[in-house]
Amino acid sequence: MNKPHVAFLGLGIMGSGMARRLLASGFPLTVFNRNAEKSKPFATLGAQIARSPREAAAQADVIISMVADDNASRGLWLGENGAFAAAKPGTVCIECSTVTVNLAHELSAAATSRGCEFLDAPVTGSKIHAANGELNFLVGGDSATLEKVRPVLAAMGKTITLIGPSGSGALLKLINNFVCGVEVAAFAGAMAMVERGGLDRAKALEVLANGAPGSPLVKTVSARMTAPDFTPNFPLRLMAKDLGYAIQEGRKLSIELTTAAAALEDFKRAIAAGHGEKDIAAVVEPLRALKKNPIESK
Ligand code: NAP
Repeated sequence: MNKPHVAFLGLGIMGSGMARRLLASGFPLTVFNRNAEKSKPFATLGAQIARSPREAAAQADVIISMVADDNASRGLWLGENGAFAAAKPGTVCIECSTVTVNLAHELSAAATSRGCEFLDAPVTGSKIHAANGELNFLVGGDSATLEKVRPVLAAMGKTITLIGPSGSGALLKLINNFVCGVEVAAFAGAMAMVERGGLDRAKALEVLANGAPGSPLVKTVSARMTAPDFTPNFPLRLMAKDLGYAIQEGRKLSIELTTAAAALEDFKRAIAAGHGEKDIAAVVEPLRALKKNPIESK
């Protein structure tokens, strides 16, 4: 059977790795990225380059979007030159970006009204997992729709989990990143205390990383903070976005995520200090830069 033609919208850190995986697996591919420079390398890899999401969608059987946030996603799908303007009935439309549950519902309704099918399928894993086809897809939607596109997702991921109906993938992804964001912000505080408290950093980090707090994420950001190496794997500004969305989703459920709110303040402070484009581990930098309280340090 012929492989479906995929349109891939958004060639950032994650999208570029995912699109490369689709090409490597032999899927006919059309790509679109707002900044056309990022599309150029894909022409030599055999992809068609589209000038708009609409143009990319016109010949696609499957459309995948992987962009920054709700605003970017809404424009790509629903804008004047958006994918829905050209998607043919029967197309499976997949939103892999981390977006709000409301947007997932809005896109699902828009897809249905055009005779298309929709999945919210955000991912866990980061740049290296996208490049290696080792992402974990958290899928919200119909199981029959998922089965139609399982081979497409399998080219980019190691696990594909149907979480529940439309919006479930989006909600679980925000819950996941709420916990991750709090963990990273908490560990940044720990790192700053270790350093300013005059502890032997290597010994202290070994205790923390190998003890109860040492999650895979803490181990990863600990190494990046220590190096320091803030090459963006997961840009800090996007974690701030996810914490904001998680707080909103919590409120819809009458749950005030106070730890997320505190972590968000730390990420906002890092953005204000110019670290927004760096890796999330750079959330430690404003804490490192703070002067000791002159009274307490006496
Ligand atoms: P990124 O490198 O910053 O890429 C963002 C992409 O969104 C780029 O293609 C960018 O286009 C596009 N974009 C931004 N604003 C736009 C707009 N208004 N209109 C059209 N396109 C727009 O981000 P990323 O790390 O790949 O993340 C993409 C998504 O995956 C986000 O939702 C993020 O939360 C999620 N995610 C990231 C990771 C990670 O570890 N990095 C892991 C899991 C999930 P330009 O190139 O033109 O700017």
